[in-house]
Amino acid sequence: MASGGANYRNGTQRNSLKGTTTATDRQLSMNSNPSKAALKNKSLSSVGASSGLRKSSPGSLGGGTAKDDAGVPGRVRVAVRLRPRNAEESVADADFADCVELQPEFKRLKLRKNNWDTDTYEFDEVLTEFASQKRVYEVVAKPVVESVLDGYNGTVMAYGQTGTGKTYTLGRLGEEDTADRGIIVRAMEDILAGVSLESDSVSVSYLQLYMESLQDLLDPTNDNISIVEDPKSGDVSLPGATLVEIRDQQSFLELLQLGEAHRYAANTRLNTESSRSHALLMVHVKRSVKGRELAHSSQNGNSTNIAKSLRPTLVRKGKLVVVDLAGSERIDKSGSEGHTLEEAKSINLSLIALGKCINALAENSAHVPVRDSKLTRLLRDSFGGTARTSLVITIGPSPRHRGETTSTIMFGQRAMKVENMLKLKEEFDYKSLARKLDIQLDKLIMEHERKQKAFEEEIERITTDTQNQISEAERNYADAMEKERLKYQKDYMESIKKLEEKWMMNQHKLGERKDQMASTAQEVAELKKLLSKETSLRKAAEEEINNLKSQLAQLKMSEASANSESLKLRKMLEDEAYRKEKLEGEISMLQTQLLQLSFEADETRRRLDRGGPGKVPGDLDSLISQVRPQVNDSVNEEKASIANLFEQVGLQKILSLLEAEDADVRIHAVKVVANLAAEESNQQKIVEAGGLTSLLLLLGSSEDETIHRVAAGAIANLAMNETNQELIMSEGGIRLLSITAANAEDPQTLRMVAGAIANLCGNDKLQNKLRGEGGIKALLGMVKCGHPGVLAQVARGIANFAKCESRASAQGSKTGRSLLIEDGALPWIVQNANNDASPIRRHIELAVCHLAQHEVNARDMITGGALWELVRISQDCSREDIRTLAHRTLTSSPTFLAELRRLRIDY
Ligand code: ADP
Ligand code: MG
Repeated sequence: MASGGANYRNGTQRNSLKGTTTATDRQLSMNSNPSKAALKNKSLSSVGASSGLRKSSPGSLGGGTAKDDAGVPGRVRVAVRLRPRNAEESVADADFADCVELQPEFKRLKLRKNNWDTDTYEFDEVLTEFASQKRVYEVVAKPVVESVLDGYNGTVMAYGQTGTGKTYTLGRLGEEDTADRGIIVRAMEDILAGVSLESDSVSVSYLQLYMESLQDLLDPTNDNISIVEDPKSGDVSLPGATLVEIRDQQSFLELLQLGEAHRYAANTRLNTESSRSHALLMVHVKRSVKGRELAHSSQNGNSTNIAKSLRPTLVRKGKLVVVDLAGSERIDKSGSEGHTLEEAKSINLSLIALGKCINALAENSAHVPVRDSKLTRLLRDSFGGTARTSLVITIGPSPRHRGETTSTIMFGQRAMKVENMLKLKEEFDYKSLARKLDIQLDKLIMEHERKQKAFEEEIERITTDTQNQISEAERNYADAMEKERLKYQKDYMESIKKLEEKWMMNQHKLGERKDQMASTAQEVAELKKLLSKETSLRKAAEEEINNLKSQLAQLKMSEASANSESLKLRKMLEDEAYRKEKLEGEISMLQTQLLQLSFEADETRRRLDRGGPGKVPGDLDSLISQVRPQVNDSVNEEKASIANLFEQVGLQKILSLLEAEDADVRIHAVKVVANLAAEESNQQKIVEAGGLTSLLLLLGSSEDETIHRVAAGAIANLAMNETNQELIMSEGGIRLLSITAANAEDPQTLRMVAGAIANLCGNDKLQNKLRGEGGIKALLGMVKCGHPGVLAQVARGIANFAKCESRASAQGSKTGRSLLIEDGALPWIVQNANNDASPIRRHIELAVCHLAQHEVNARDMITGGALWELVRISQDCSREDIRTLAHRTLTSSPTFLAELRRLRIDY
């Protein structure tokens, strides 16, 4: 290419093919040479015959040539298309015939020189004003598109005067009517249908060439793109142009519209019309050829399978260039359109250069001035030469433009003589194949090395192993042999010895047996007797031991509860002592007052006895009210002991004051009684004098909280005694205490009531009655006040009750579930088993242990969560005796143990 026209035409090929094609060529060159006379009507018959020589199939410019093998020369195919008359022409040229007459069946065009003379020209295709866009595409562009898909470069160009239909032929988008679609749109449709989107690629650039400056229509800022030519391959490329990959038709149409908009804007800026510039669309198609196509292309088809699998991918690259040339009229007329000649030259430089190149090629000139313009440089690898080229020349019918039409026809005729030499653009990707093979080889070498090493190691390992095994087997064998030998020797000796002994014994026994027979029977009987005696003795001893064991356990348990109870009592005693001291002052005052009262009463009685109706100096109430200020004042006065009070006033008198009408008197009296009841020595006397009954009555009749509290305290003290407990119960004490608890607001009152019931709970005989009268429920009812003192008493009561129940169960006098569980105490027990307050916690822990000692309770305890408390007590309780008790209880219960096993807990 660089050496002038040499690459435009392959001389050798051309010569070798002359035999088949020159006839046509000669005809054509003769016909088309403007310097010679055009083919006249009379010579048509010979032309008709010559047209039959052309290898083109009817209706196709390229025809079968698209399937030519690489290296077969073709010729630039030229079609002429006539535009129908437009509205202006229909009017202006109404009286004139068209300047051309078409004979499509003969592929001829007659150009009217005047009314009686015409010149006839032959083209590869003659398209009348009625030719459809589809047909135009099929005959002009389709063969080129097909060869581009096969890996050739191809060009479709439109040449003609402005307004004759170049853009109509190439660039119509056909958006309103698909039948209008031009060559560009149809070409892309065929290309996209012919490639695989996974393995192939289609990309486009869209450019405008104006005044020798190449502008990127896809990026208007890019307005001076340079052309790069590969000196070796002759390939032309535009590295600076935007290249857009096309995946579908719609995006391509949008791209064309964008390019068109940019073209319009650029031309406005340059103050020119699009007819003065060339528009170029470049489509790059890259297709990989595989499978059948590839096998087909391998020489003689005798390559082995391995060779096939190693064959690199074959990539076929084709380039389609569609050129909508500037209006051809400029060559002659642009000067008259207000441009200087220089400007006009510059504008049309490329078109002029194209004409010159075509002339040079047509005339087989030694020099083709390819380098004269950008257009010719750009088309260097796409026009003539190694590409397949189609040119469509467009003409109008108007006789007024005869000159332009003539020059267009001449341009087409000259172009028909340009030959091209197709060159298949196929490449093997040897580099990547070599890379792949290198990698594969490296991998194989590495793998081989690895395997070799592993193999050697394995051999070594097996050898060592085998040697070890052999020597060990030898050792074992020798040992076993020696052992066997010794064993047999020993057995043999022993057998001999035994046989000898047996023989001796048999001899001896034979003599003795007869004597012994008689005595043996007697001995046996005696021995039997002895044995049975021994057996029964042993049984009795075992029973005794078991009894002792259970007694010991019970003793330990009661000792533990007694300990805690005594602690509790000690505490209570301390409280009471403090209160006693406080009340001492009050008591001494009362003593005085009571003395006076008894004195007054005696006086009154005496007076009444005397019969004198004199005035009674005030009743008891008024007396007390007189004395009352002194009561308060005398608190710190001399203190007399309770014993003194007892002796001086008399218990009966004090108790009678419990029923006094004056509330204060009742309060004082009940406090005195409570203090007295705190002393164990007084308790029996108080009860014998009916004090307990009075206290219970007072509990029922009074509504005073203080009286309730103090009376309950007194009852609690009296309830420590077993006889009193029975009395309290028989007097309906539980009911009274329950009512008191229900109405109490002072936690201290609740504490006293709870204390009293707790004491009753400790009585074995009263269990059922206590529960039957709602004692347990009353206890549980008090927990809602939350006072720790109350809770401690409740806990103590429950522990006492549980302990009694446990005892009764052990003795067999109680069967069935614990009444505590029956009355719903379990949730509270579980909830408080780990209470922070130690008095509460200790009692509950004991209660849990007592409950757990009886299997009847076990199920409820498991479902209520008490098992976990028992486990915790057995592990965490700070008191060792309780801890041990819990542990023992737990481990002796089959139900608990089964549950722990079920839960997979190791205990
Ligand atoms: P050019 O690109 O050669 O300057 P255009 O393609 O712009 O010419 O055509 C000029 C006018 O003629 C447009 O209005 C176009 O629609 C109309 N035209 C061109 N060719 C044909 C045709 N074959 N059939 C109908 N109208 C045509
Ligand atoms: Mg145009």
